[in-house]
Amino acid sequence: MLLAASSLLLAAHTLASADAPDWSFYHTTDEIFAELESLAKSCPVLKVWRQKAASGSYAVNTQLGLFSDAASAGKKARLHVTFGEHGRELISSEVALQLARVVCTPGSPEAAAAAKRFGYTSAWVAELLRHLELQFVPVENLVTRRKVEKGDLCNRMNGRGVDINRNWDNHWGIKGPEYLASEEYGGTKAFSEPETRISRDAIAAFKPLGFVSIHAGIREMYMPYDHISRQATDPALHEVMALINKKHCRCKTGSAGQISGYHAYGTATDYMYEILKIPLTFTWEIAGDPDAPMKECFKAFNPVTKAEYDESVQNWAGAILTFGGEIVRRSLDITVTGKQPAAGGAAGAPAVVAAAPVAASAAAVTAAAAATAGLRGVGAAPPPIAAAGGAAVVMPRSITSTAQSRSSAAWAIEAKLGKQLAEQPRSTSVGVVLGGVVGVFVALRAGRALCRAAS
Ligand SMILES: [Zn+2]
Repeated sequence: MLLAASSLLLAAHTLASADAPDWSFYHTTDEIFAELESLAKSCPVLKVWRQKAASGSYAVNTQLGLFSDAASAGKKARLHVTFGEHGRELISSEVALQLARVVCTPGSPEAAAAAKRFGYTSAWVAELLRHLELQFVPVENLVTRRKVEKGDLCNRMNGRGVDINRNWDNHWGIKGPEYLASEEYGGTKAFSEPETRISRDAIAAFKPLGFVSIHAGIREMYMPYDHISRQATDPALHEVMALINKKHCRCKTGSAGQISGYHAYGTATDYMYEILKIPLTFTWEIAGDPDAPMKECFKAFNPVTKAEYDESVQNWAGAILTFGGEIVRRSLDITVTGKQPAAGGAAGAPAVVAAAPVAASAAAVTAAAAATAGLRGVGAAPPPIAAAGGAAVVMPRSITSTAQSRSSAAWAIEAKLGKQLAEQPRSTSVGVVLGGVVGVFVALRAGRALCRAAS
């Protein structure tokens, strides 16, 4: 009944909503996939592929990508970026496209913006990719993003109603006092969803040093943890967060719950940090308007104007490059300048170089090298974890066993409205039975709560 009611409410919301993406600069999921595939044909440092997975009759065919200069020998650090975990946060995947244009199309407006705003010239990017492999999922929640594109503007769940940021096998299934099934249902079991399994397998095999998931709904930056009430204490996390914040956000930072007081369970961030032991794990909330009117889900989660859109995609594509540069500096003791002579090439070498099999680029970075160059003040490096096809980068880190933290900050907004929605099932029943005016009233209330919930 609740699901049926929710559908009614969302339909009413959509009808009542006047806001929508401006498709003169936003891109559909299929346009993003097509352009990335097209770029990869002429961009030797970009490879894209598809990965299928299914749970019963629910199947997805996800695109994944890798930026890497496979022709460059030597050790490489690794960074994974996930875009589009929640359908309604369209702007997230727009950043993936911007990043690909910066990397693959020297001379483009996107590349020019990266050079002008942050000094990330094509030579700088080329140098970065001689030392960094950057794997990414451009649209993790592709089924629902397509629904959002057709007007289901408040939908954050996957194609069968599961929040894939509550489906990870770490503290899975715990329901806090603010739990909202319509926004946070974590599935029948951990990793029940094909989207989550595809990402898990890709990231676990890749063994990155850094991970970031790009969300929207507010402009804040988070580090672990989501499920307890304190932020992680590792100095490296704080140092990197501070660096990226100063250059790209100048916003509130911390663990999500420190800001919101709302705990989330089974999240990607906590899985990456605690289970896969990725030392530099973040969630970035890159845009959105928490004060948007209740009927305007698109505006609540996305830039509306072209100017706002450009600012977001330019800034956060730059932030990912900054993160990559910092990972290279910390793990390899190499500062990317765009001016350094590279082996076999002169300074300012173009981004496009001879292609080579990407599989050959799984160069190992030893824990010893990481310890030498890397996360100062974090203690001795642990033994490296063996990785199929290459050794893993395992940076030193320390997690206090009693660490407490709170969860995600945009969830503060969700928590604020949690009580309002907590009464929703009863109100909804009335709405369904009576219909008409009561139904519309309930629809607007639910729409408001839905539009305020974020990561
Ligand atoms: Zn989100």
